[in-house]
Amino acid sequence: MSYRLPIHQRLANALNYGEFRIYYQPVIELATGKIIGAEALCRWPQRDSTFAPPETFITQAETTGFIVPLGEWVMRTALEQASRWQKLLDVDFQIAVNLSGRQFMHPNLHKSVEETVRTASLRKHTLEFEITESVAMHNAEDSIGIMRQLKGEGLGLALDDFGTGYSSLSYLKRFPIDKLKIDKSFVRDIPADANDLAIVEAIIAMAHALGLSVQAEGVETQAQADFLTECGCEYAQGYLFGRAVPPEEFQVLLGHAPPRSEMPEPLRAQGGSR
Ligand code: C2E
Ligand code: CA
Ligand code: CA
Repeated sequence: MSYRLPIHQRLANALNYGEFRIYYQPVIELATGKIIGAEALCRWPQRDSTFAPPETFITQAETTGFIVPLGEWVMRTALEQASRWQKLLDVDFQIAVNLSGRQFMHPNLHKSVEETVRTASLRKHTLEFEITESVAMHNAEDSIGIMRQLKGEGLGLALDDFGTGYSSLSYLKRFPIDKLKIDKSFVRDIPADANDLAIVEAIIAMAHALGLSVQAEGVETQAQADFLTECGCEYAQGYLFGRAVPPEEFQVLLGHAPPRSEMPEPLRAQGGSR
């Protein structure tokens, strides 16, 4: 495929040719250390065996409007995968899917979500959408309406990258959300940085006072995990627990190695036991 093609054409070709992948990053319940779910993260492998940076191609997809078909593909694929894991494990495995601004505001969102959840035969309460604080606050009154519709379907809602946007506390208390995700920029320097410690503690206390649960992202060290656990943070994700990995590898993390024939070469070589 030529790199001289305009970006929207390259993205459309990539979707048509099945080039996109979804990687799954484990979400941990801090009190038990157990994997309770995953965040679905889109990957676009390139011919040189690298990945296109998600921040870049997702922004390009957002600008060109291509995020709508791409986001639908992500949602359908992740929900079908999560549904398979729910059956395999017989637990309410949680799946988190990111919604960009355009997807969130798209008039067809509600219908497409409803159809996808039904087709994937996913237990509704196990799907959580992540909406960034900036997207939610951008047009807060409209956001409340859209969130109510999604909540009406029985789905979970999390406010992503919390602390980086323009927080309006009066809106925060009106958003029908379930969870705040503390942005990784606040987690990075705890427990060394006294300001970040205070911010993280305050976010957790405020979330709990509003009846919301808290998930920290970007947890890379045991000291960070210990501090978050002490503060009562319920969930975490980050390199300490595991990076985003392809579904076959994630299934190994879940303690259910897929048949050897379905494993990618590097895992097969390890006997699928990592
Ligand atoms: P995000 O939603 O905030 O996702 C978390 C990002 O943090 C992911 O980057 C993840 O790989 C990375 N991360 C996880 N643990 C750690 C850690 O311990 N340390 C550090 N430094 N980073 C960690 P990724 O996969 O590159 O995605 C970047 C962004 O692209 C996401 O940020 C999200 O905004 C967007 N994105 C990715 N996939 C999708 C998608 O399917 N739809 C939409 N709308 N956006 C997506
Ligand atoms: Ca996210
Ligand atoms: Ca985030």
